[in-house]
Order: sequence, then C-alpha cells, then structure tokens
Amino acid sequence: MPEKDNWREKRDQILDTARLIVIKVGSAVLTSPEGVDANVVGRLADQISNLIDRGKQVILVSSGAVSAGTNYLQSLFSEHTMAEKQAAAAIGQSRLMHIYDGAFERYGKVTAQILLTRDDLRSRHRFLNARNTFYSLLNNNVIPIVNENDTVVVQELEFGENDFLASLILNLVQADLFINLTSAEGVFAQNPEENPAAEKIDCIHSIKDWDIESQCNGKTSAGSGGMHTKMLAGRRASQLGVPTLIVSGKETFVLEKVFSGLDLGTWILPDEKVVSQKKFWFAYNLDPVGSLFIDKGAVQALMFGGKSLLPAGVLDVRDEFQAGDLVRIKDHEGKQVGVGITRFSSRDMEKIKGKKSTQISSALGFSVESEEAIHRDEMLLDAVH
Ligand code: GLU
Repeated sequence: MPEKDNWREKRDQILDTARLIVIKVGSAVLTSPEGVDANVVGRLADQISNLIDRGKQVILVSSGAVSAGTNYLQSLFSEHTMAEKQAAAAIGQSRLMHIYDGAFERYGKVTAQILLTRDDLRSRHRFLNARNTFYSLLNNNVIPIVNENDTVVVQELEFGENDFLASLILNLVQADLFINLTSAEGVFAQNPEENPAAEKIDCIHSIKDWDIESQCNGKTSAGSGGMHTKMLAGRRASQLGVPTLIVSGKETFVLEKVFSGLDLGTWILPDEKVVSQKKFWFAYNLDPVGSLFIDKGAVQALMFGGKSLLPAGVLDVRDEFQAGDLVRIKDHEGKQVGVGITRFSSRDMEKIKGKKSTQISSALGFSVESEEAIHRDEMLLDAVH
C-alpha cells in the first residue's frame, strides 16, 4: 500500500499506543459572549475522565481566563488595556478553575492549576523542576490544567498564545500525542470562509514541506491564535516526533469519536527524523539575540552535510551577543536557516568571521579548544518561530 494511503492505520496505532496526551482547548471553544460556558467545560471533563479511565494520562492546556473575567470589568471600551486584560485574567482564572474543579469532581477526579511564563521554562533548572511537578501530579492521578500566567506576564516574557505554550509543554512532559481543540473542523485546503467548497485535509504527512506563512493567516475572534499558530505548533510537534490532531472542540463527543476511529479533524504526522529534546528546548524556550549571515557553502554544509558552522562560512555578524546565547543563522540574503548556540561573542565573531580554523587563535589573541562557531548538536535547522 502506498505510504500516503495508510494514514488511518498510523492514526489508529497512535491513538492506541499514546499514553500521555496534551489536549489544548481555545477560548473560541470554551466561551460565549457571556463568559466561559460551563456546559462545554462539563462535556470536556466527561470525555477527558473517560480517557483517563481507559488508561491515558491527560494534561489540559486551557485558555479562557481573560474571557471569563472580562465581563466583570467596568470598562466601557471593547479594546482593553494591558492592565485591564491582566486584571480580567486574574478574575477569570479562578472562575475557570472553579468550573473545571466542579466538572471533574463529578468523576472523583482532582485538578491542579499550573500557570507559566516563558521565564519559568527558560532556565534548564526550572524547566526540569517543572517537569518533575507534572510527573508527580500525573502519578497521583491529578489532572494538570495549564495556562499562561497572564496576570503577571510582561511582553518580553509572554508565550502570547496557548498554541505556542502547548507545543513547549509537549517537550516538557515528553508527550505522545497533541490534540488541539479549536473552533474549526480542521485544516482546509482553502479558506472555508471565502470558498465554501473548500475541502478539509484529513492528514498532513509532511508539514515541513508546507509554507505555513502564506497558507494560513486566518484568525478567530476569541483567543489569540487562529489556524496559523495551530499549524506552527503542529510543525514544532512534528519536529519533536509528536503527532498532532487539530479538530473541532465544538463537535459533540469529539474525543470519544476520535478515539473510536472516526475521520475527524486534520492529523499532522511527525517528521521521520526528530530533534532531541535538548535542541527543541533551547530553540524554542530561549529568544535569539543576534544573527550570523553565512555563505552558500556553509548553508549547504549545514543543511545537507549535517556539519557544524565554522567561522570560515560566516559573512556578517548582527547585533550584540555573548558566547552561549541563541542566535539566528541566516543565508546571504537574510533568509533564516536555523538557530543555534554561539560559541563566540559578537565581538569575537567579528574578528574571526571568514577566517580558516588555523587562523582563529591568532585573530583572537588567545587559543581556543574548538573552532566551531556553532556546533551541530547545538543547532536547530528549520526552527519555527
Ligand atoms: N491565556 C489566555 C487566556 O486564558 C488565552 C491565550 C490564547 O487564547 O491562546 O485567556
């Protein structure tokens, strides 16, 4: 059977063997103009409890705090300030958890709230601590419910939207499956609002060949994602080897239907060659602080030869950075090739760019143990930011 025809077989195997599942639910699914819809939360809790009773472990990434709190603000304006949004999140988050608690309690299940900012996952030490907390909760049959800590977050430290946060959680907990519950039925070949005949795509076999930027720019009015961020999250998941299902959270009994083998939503199959958890961690939890422009030969060596980046291939250095910082790697036209941890500061890199390995120590004025500008083990090509 040709590879592309047997996706259902792969899907059935994924559903069968997946033990730890991250389910993300967006504001557009959970909320109505009145706030969080307790019936929707209740039905979600029914289905998640059922999955847990069948031996799965579930981490829920839930939006809805800002929507749940907005109606309690006195502001007459529909565009809220940052402070008002943060206040709304503070009001809404506890309301949201209260509804989840009650919904899961009906099944004798306990929930735990985990609020994160990017800063919490940026230090490797705190990242590993957070991982232990998740495992400890799961081992005690508690359902972790995660959201961004909207109330205290500042712009530089925000995930921005929960699709991104969920994709980082996949790596944090080493999940087996990512289910993204959204307001759309899945990914469509064309924009279904503009083209009613547009067909849903059942399975994306190789998301790395998709031009996500130009193909998906639709946004939903609730929440802050849209299909674009869901596809980026799916792309990251595939790099990590985690399959994604993007499916409508508005469909009744959606999880039950999916697990009974119905063709719902869009599956994104994982890449064949997956990246290590450590590479994924630095590429997406750290922010690139500068750029290295590299020549065509270096691009070839990185992309097709699996090589490290040598100073000889560096054409130009942009912005200031220190050794150990994450930097962008760009081709001579400025197109991003990947990201990596630089072994030299921008100042030293200026001195050694274009130089052969034998010239490096004399250009720097001190001897170096290794000449790589970025080692291949500390580089992620095709990083999705
Ligand atoms: N953290 C936000 C909230 O709870 C939602 C972010 C998003 O929509 O992705 O309201």
